Amino acid sequence: MLYYSTNKQSPTVNFKAATIQGQAPDKGLYFPEQIPTVPAGLIENIESYSNEEIAYLVMKPYVGDTIPEEILRKIVNETINFEIPLVPITENIAALELYHGPTLAFKDVGARFMSRCLGYFVQEEHRKVTVLVATSGDTGGAVANGFYNVDGVEVVILYPSGKVSSVQEKQLTTLGNNIHALEVNGTFDDCQQMVKEVFTDEELNKQLFLTSANSINVARWLPQQLYYFFAFKQWKEKSNPPVISVPSGNFGNICAGILAHISGLPVTHFIAACNANDVVPSFMLTEKYEPKKAVATISNAMDVGNPSNFVRILEIFHHDFKNLERLFTSVSISDAETRVTLKEVLEKHKYLLDPHGAVGYLALSRYLENFPEHKGMVLETAHPVKFFDVVEPIIGEEVPVPGSIREQLLLEKKSTVIPADAAKLKSFLQSLG
Ligand SMILES: *Cc1c(COP(=O)(O)O)cnc(C)c1O
Repeated sequence: MLYYSTNKQSPTVNFKAATIQGQAPDKGLYFPEQIPTVPAGLIENIESYSNEEIAYLVMKPYVGDTIPEEILRKIVNETINFEIPLVPITENIAALELYHGPTLAFKDVGARFMSRCLGYFVQEEHRKVTVLVATSGDTGGAVANGFYNVDGVEVVILYPSGKVSSVQEKQLTTLGNNIHALEVNGTFDDCQQMVKEVFTDEELNKQLFLTSANSINVARWLPQQLYYFFAFKQWKEKSNPPVISVPSGNFGNICAGILAHISGLPVTHFIAACNANDVVPSFMLTEKYEPKKAVATISNAMDVGNPSNFVRILEIFHHDFKNLERLFTSVSISDAETRVTLKEVLEKHKYLLDPHGAVGYLALSRYLENFPEHKGMVLETAHPVKFFDVVEPIIGEEVPVPGSIREQLLLEKKSTVIPADAAKLKSFLQSLG
């Protein structure tokens, strides 16, 4: 499989080069030259396949011959070694719980897959690589955990001091070893700016082999297809495929689901559920794509004003709006509606959503009112405890902390505090060298 850049000004590359580079040199996103079809029989007999086998069969064509079979099997097995249950909420709506991984959010799947692929590639090249990432919360934890103790990879995570939740901060700062947490006296935008400046420093890039682990990397994006297949395996009415609602920010997750569908997975309709950041819902009304400055909401992992993966969705549909519209809807849900939904679903159905899942739930239940012959699922992208500061005042009770992270919350935070200054970041990186 070869990947082209969506800007079409860079040469095509294989999976290895796309993973190491992250973004194409022309600043486009890598996209597969053909979308493969899953093997005959996989969909008809999906219940007889193990998740491990499904994962291998789906990922194999994308990876091609850049990773040998037995290593790819090991990588996918480690990527998905936690539960991904489909849990009924009402008669018509189920939640696909993507939060049983080590950092309690769906980003674990992509981060675990990417870290292991990159680990394999650097071993092959006999060189060390430094992964540099700025985070506003969930990405950093998933990347830290995914890359922890991966040989040959040093990870440097920048986060804005005092602006991530306490759970998120522990997930970033307590691992140690090859994971370095830089606590920046500034905002998330400052962190991102520092990372950008360092990436353009040619001299430093010659010394250190720098790469990024953000969500446009194909090795983070593509494995997100897997749980859509696992969901269908658990779906009872195979002849009436689900409407799938995906809480969306950068649109990587939903785009992976659409890719799975094009590969053969039955899905009735996709809903991209957004908060007040409504660039894509507006596009679906006006056909005009107008990026905006992100506004802060209570579902903050979706506070994105210019969703980087949306171009990949347009690419799948060959930029044909009519085609897109048939399969894809996008709506914007306010914070007030999110709060009411979270509270009501707990009271009526005894199911605790997180704020992102609540956005997805409301979007789905509105859609199903118009199409009562269908049923659907919402992707629960994070455990409610990750956003306990938002959730607890809404429901008026404490969110129990899952056993898997209780110990980590007791560990001591270890971070290096630095000013919002790219020169300081540069000298930190050189000290690792
Ligand atoms: C990252 C994230 C999202 C948004 O996912 P995209 O792939 O960027 O659309 C939604 N919910 C949670 C909890 C997240 O961490």
